[in-house]
Amino acid sequence: MMVFSPLITQLIASLRCLPGVGPKSAQRMAFHVLENARSDGSQLAKALVQAIQKVGNCEQCRSLSETQICALCANSSRDGTLLCVVETPIDVMAIEQTASYRGHYFVLMGRLSPLDGIGPEDIGIGHFIKRLNKNPPQEVILATNPTVEGEATAHYLAELIKQQGIKISRIAHGVPLGSELEFVDGNTLARSLQFRTVV
Ligand SMILES: [Zn+2]
Repeated sequence: MMVFSPLITQLIASLRCLPGVGPKSAQRMAFHVLENARSDGSQLAKALVQAIQKVGNCEQCRSLSETQICALCANSSRDGTLLCVVETPIDVMAIEQTASYRGHYFVLMGRLSPLDGIGPEDIGIGHFIKRLNKNPPQEVILATNPTVEGEATAHYLAELIKQQGIKISRIAHGVPLGSELEFVDGNTLARSLQFRTVV
């Protein structure tokens, strides 16, 4: 088995911290940078350091931001009566790309997962309560993922705020557009029947 020099070994090992990068891809990336892309590689290293040093969390919604208040929270044309709760900043991007929501967000930066030791304080419940008290919305939309943990998180949040007189809704789950019923899994189909809407 070929043994790389210490610095190359270190580079390969470091690349493996990225999601979806296995040993082979890490090796290919490391050699690509060293053989053909040294200046791009330096640019990447610089961008990583700068982002890590300067990107923090928005004080209002907890999403990633390099300013105290992110552009979305600072935008006065957004609808302050709606607050959509999501697990990660990527979820915000996904919803924004649909261009169908104009309210505000709160990003949990995770989800409840007792088995992994992730409790309410790890998903910013303190921040969330503060956010609700400071600027109470009329409706909170729980848009955590339809996974076991996501559902448990939505349930927890709903229980937490149900005393506050705020309307609480959950995103609908059902049959994906363009799919055929026979290929949809049983749980999804059962749920779409349970939460059917009148047309
Ligand atoms: Zn924000």
